[in-house]
Amino acid sequence: MFKSWLKVSDTCECCGLDYRFAAPDDGPAFFSLCLIALPLIFVVVWIQVAYNPPIWVHLVTSVPIMVAGCLLPLRPIKGWLVASQYVNRSQEAGTERLWNQLHGRTKGSNFDD
Ligand SMILES: [Zn+2]
Repeated sequence: MFKSWLKVSDTCECCGLDYRFAAPDDGPAFFSLCLIALPLIFVVVWIQVAYNPPIWVHLVTSVPIMVAGCLLPLRPIKGWLVASQYVNRSQEAGTERLWNQLHGRTKGSNFDD
């Protein structure tokens, strides 16, 4: 479903689903920061307070773990958010017509079935 690292394809290569509805925006970064970066910061601060290591210890351990820990989950989180948008039929105000157009529904019937 991705045409590059985080760019969502125009359509699904398996079923042809139009991905124009997909707009997770900053969601992946938000969840990555909340679920990985914040707990990691507490661990790093605890290591600093408990053992007072020299700064190079953080440069070779904390920084790479933080960068990898925040970047690697972005893609699965984005896939999860796009799937969630599709399953829950999330839409921003004013995009009802786009949804109906994408899914062949008549106006006003998008939450009826
Ligand atoms: Zn598909």
